Amino acid sequence: MNILTTKIEYLKGVGPQRALLLNTEIQVFTYGDLLEHYPFRHEDRSRFYTIAEITEDYPYVQLRGRISQLKLLGEGSKKRLSAELEDATGTVELVWFKGIQWVQPKLKNGQEYVVFGKPQLFGRRFNLAHPEIEPFVAGQTAETGLMPLYHTTEKMKRRFLDSKGLGVLVKNCLEISYKQIEETLPAAILEKYKLPARAQALWGIHFPKEAGQLKRALGRLKFEELFFIQLRMLMAKQVRKQNYRGLVFSRVALLTEFYNRHLPFALTEAQKRVIKEIYADLKSGRQMNRLLQGDVGSGKTIVAFICMLVALDNQAQACLMAPTEILADQHYHGLRAYADRLGLGIARLTGSTKTSERRVILEKLSSGELHIVVGTHALIEDDVQFQNLGLCVIDEQHRFGVEQRAKLWKKNPNVYPHVLVMTATPIPRTLAMTLYGDLDVSVIDQLPAGRKPIKTLHYYDSHRLKVFGFMRQQIDLGRQVYVVYPLIEESEKSDLKNLEDGYESVCRAFPNYRVSIVHGKMRSVDKDFEMQRFVKGETHIMVATTVIEVGVNVPNASVMVIENAERFGLAQLHQLRGRVGRGAEQSYCLLMSKPQLSKEGKVRLETMVRTTNGFEIADVDLKLRGPGDLQGTQQSGVLDLRLADISQDQKILQAARQTVEELLAQDPDLADPAHAVLKKQLATSRPVRGWSRIS
Ligand code: ADP
Ligand code: MG
Repeated sequence: MNILTTKIEYLKGVGPQRALLLNTEIQVFTYGDLLEHYPFRHEDRSRFYTIAEITEDYPYVQLRGRISQLKLLGEGSKKRLSAELEDATGTVELVWFKGIQWVQPKLKNGQEYVVFGKPQLFGRRFNLAHPEIEPFVAGQTAETGLMPLYHTTEKMKRRFLDSKGLGVLVKNCLEISYKQIEETLPAAILEKYKLPARAQALWGIHFPKEAGQLKRALGRLKFEELFFIQLRMLMAKQVRKQNYRGLVFSRVALLTEFYNRHLPFALTEAQKRVIKEIYADLKSGRQMNRLLQGDVGSGKTIVAFICMLVALDNQAQACLMAPTEILADQHYHGLRAYADRLGLGIARLTGSTKTSERRVILEKLSSGELHIVVGTHALIEDDVQFQNLGLCVIDEQHRFGVEQRAKLWKKNPNVYPHVLVMTATPIPRTLAMTLYGDLDVSVIDQLPAGRKPIKTLHYYDSHRLKVFGFMRQQIDLGRQVYVVYPLIEESEKSDLKNLEDGYESVCRAFPNYRVSIVHGKMRSVDKDFEMQRFVKGETHIMVATTVIEVGVNVPNASVMVIENAERFGLAQLHQLRGRVGRGAEQSYCLLMSKPQLSKEGKVRLETMVRTTNGFEIADVDLKLRGPGDLQGTQQSGVLDLRLADISQDQKILQAARQTVEELLAQDPDLADPAHAVLKKQLATSRPVRGWSRIS
């Protein structure tokens, strides 16, 4: 019997009523749950800081010094109590706005105190608001170590289960179970990475004596967390590879014809490599689940088409699902140009397909007369049935939910179709590993030859005339220009006004040119009309909101002006910039901003100016924002991590991943007795929520 599965009720100091609270308020049911209710932070009571060494980097400091100039300032609601705290190295101000009547009687000028609080820079000096303060007792040392702080709730606090109260319970629990806490990782792994034993780590994360111990404990527990996620995913992948039969595509007559006679350009080395990887899957007899990553403009569409040809060659059908109508349209037109040359049947199916036309398409799909269908969510509706769906290509994957994709799988009742997920959102390697750990990944890491890297410049709004001058020069060379404005729901009205003002000033500045305007509030026929005018080159300038963000392909457009660039996220800026640089001409991206920028805003714009590498940009983005906001992470379960943070803990993640790969290569079924602990752990611990076979 594992002591950690003991009901929390039986722990000294708990009892039925508090147990109920722990169950309902923080989902702690067992000893083990309590030990995994980790502190969110520790207060450093391990030493006294000197006032001179305080910097903003210290979240909390413990100080020792004498008080002087104790005084009440202000009136009524502005009343505050202030004192100077002085040690041998300097002074800080202590202030209280609330509870003055309790603090004031404790304080006396000239006496020595121990103070604990959060330093804040106020002007050029530090102050501590509402610090904890106790008289210094002669001989007192600072050695209470690091004090754990726990999340609790109001209801719990009423039963004295505040942070301190919980700390007492955790300590009781650790003391009685310490000797029986079982190890979950094989000894060889602990040794290799010099990780503390699980019991030690649990002690260390709650009650560390010093920062080093806490760090080692955290390192071990984060490793464990990431290790088991990877283990579970890679084992699932192993099983899938063994068990899911896939259609075997071995004939390549069509493909050869296309290669020999219709290929519109020479493929890049990266495209060729990726096609090889995909083809190996398609003829392997196992179902393919592959993620195709490629920066905007890297040429994913033709890769998708070539893969479709392999399916068609083998009497199977293919579909491509895109997240928006505009994108589905573009893909349809793009693929159709190739399909027509080969005499293939291709159709488009979206929400706005007319009923009569839809009926014909559905018939031809189920009879097999249609080979390729391109569409939106409309494709997954129940009445869409294929004769033999062999390949699903999903573009811009992050916009589709897990369930929608699963529905697509079931469109072939006999055998799951092969799945190729394409994404233009460059995902940093570490994140891809976690998010798509059970998918195979192919990367197009090269742009077609002859592309000149886009030049990116940052201008303050005051240089607008110069920017207009540059636009004019480019248009006179025969190019087209985008001018993009942010439109955010919260500030929709003022944003729209901004856009319209911008449109007017562009019209005034360019009286001899034609200007289009497109935004999300327009009727979609009007939007399409304007869009088409720009695509056909009838208008020179397109003033728009981010509706043009995804997919739109106008190779003649060579300048992208982004207004209020400081308000866009990095991923979005990168996507927008990807709208230009699609032709042979030198392209430009001009980032306009106000002169005062936040620290982050500055980093974003500097990053854009410095690099066009989507992966580098995604890395910076991940560091700035954390994984929570990154596209694609929302439904992945990655956010359920208890301790690890994939933006901070990339090294640990890599180590965990590598360890699992080596382990499974050596012992795929965990048959080695040394790996019995792993089997046991997999069987007992809860699976990670939200993983699907596709994502
Ligand atoms: P994305 O990966 O962003 O979907 P696309 O597939 O839309 O990129 O390709 C961008 C542009 O580059 C298209 O106009 C396409 O025809 C062109 N293209 C793709 N591959 C090549 C290549 N190997 N050589 C030249 N042009 C290419
Ligand atoms: Mg594309």
